[in-house]
Amino acid sequence: MLLKDRTGIIFGVANKRSIAWGITKACADAGARLALNALDERIEEKVRELAAELEKTPAGVPFIDRCDVGKDEEMDRFFARAAEALGGRVDFLVHCIAFANREDLEGEFAKTSRRGFHTALDVSAYSFAALAHRAAPLMTNGGSILTLTYLGSTRVFPNYNVMGVAKAALEAEVRYLAADLGPRKIRVNAISAGPIQTLSARGISGFTDILGHYAARTPLRRNTEVEEVGDAALFLVSDLARGVTANVLYVDCGYNVVGM
Ligand code: NAD
Repeated sequence: MLLKDRTGIIFGVANKRSIAWGITKACADAGARLALNALDERIEEKVRELAAELEKTPAGVPFIDRCDVGKDEEMDRFFARAAEALGGRVDFLVHCIAFANREDLEGEFAKTSRRGFHTALDVSAYSFAALAHRAAPLMTNGGSILTLTYLGSTRVFPNYNVMGVAKAALEAEVRYLAADLGPRKIRVNAISAGPIQTLSARGISGFTDILGHYAARTPLRRNTEVEEVGDAALFLVSDLARGVTANVLYVDCGYNVVGM
C-alpha cells in the first residue's frame, strides 16, 4: 500500500462530486489515516455521511472538524485538533478550495469589485500559504503539499475572470513554497485538472459549454474524471514522486497543448 502508516489532511470535501472526495478515496484506499475539514454545519453533515463510507478502508473513518480558511483562529484550532487525532505527525496536505462571488464569474473581468477581488484571492490563493504554514511544522519526516489549479491561470476562458487571477497567484505560491520548504524535505506541487462538473464549477457562467468544448478537442477526446485526479494526487503525495516539486501536473486529457 502506497500510503501505509502515512497521515494526511485534505481540505475541500463538500459532496460526493468534490475533487477532494476523489482524492480522499484514493488516499484512504492506499492506507492513509486522514483528517478532513468542513466549511460549515451543513457541509459537515454531508462530509460525515461520506466519511462513514471509508469505514472498511485500512485506516478507517477520517477525523473531521469545521474550518473556514477565511478565519485564522479556525485554521489554528483545526490544525491543533487534527494533529492530535493523527498522532502529532502529518505527511501530506491537500488544498482543494476555491471561492469567488457569482457576479465575478460572468461578463467582463474589468468590472470585478475590490471586495470581490479580495474574497477570491483570499479564499482561493492566500489560504494555500496559510495552510502550508500550519502544516509544515507537523511534517517532521518531510512531506508533500498539493493544491488544485486550472489552465485559466495562464489562458483566458470566458467568465473564469477573477478565478484565473487567483489561480495565477496560487501557481506562483507553489514555486515560492517549494523553495521555502524544500530544505525541510517538503515538496509542493499543483494538479491542473480539466473541467469537472462540481458544485464550484457550476458557479461559472457557461461551464457546460467548456465541458463540451474540451470533450471535442482534447487529444483523448473526452473530459477528465475525478478518479483520474485522485490517482494523480495519490502519486504526488506518495514517495513515487519523491523527486517532484515546484511542479504543475496537467490531468486534463492533454488539453493544455491544444492550439487549434
Ligand atoms: P467543490 O465545490 O466540490 O470544492 C470546493 C471546496 O471549497 C468546497 O468543499 C467548499 O466547502 C470549500 N470552500 C470554499 N470556501 C471555503 C472556505 N472559506 N473555507 C473552507 N473551505 C471552503 O469544487 P471542486 O471543483 O472540487 O473544487 C476543488 C478545487 O479544484 C478548487 O480549487 C477548484 O478551483 C479546483 N479545480 C476545479 C476544476 C473543476 O472543473 N471542477 C478544475 C480545475 C481545478
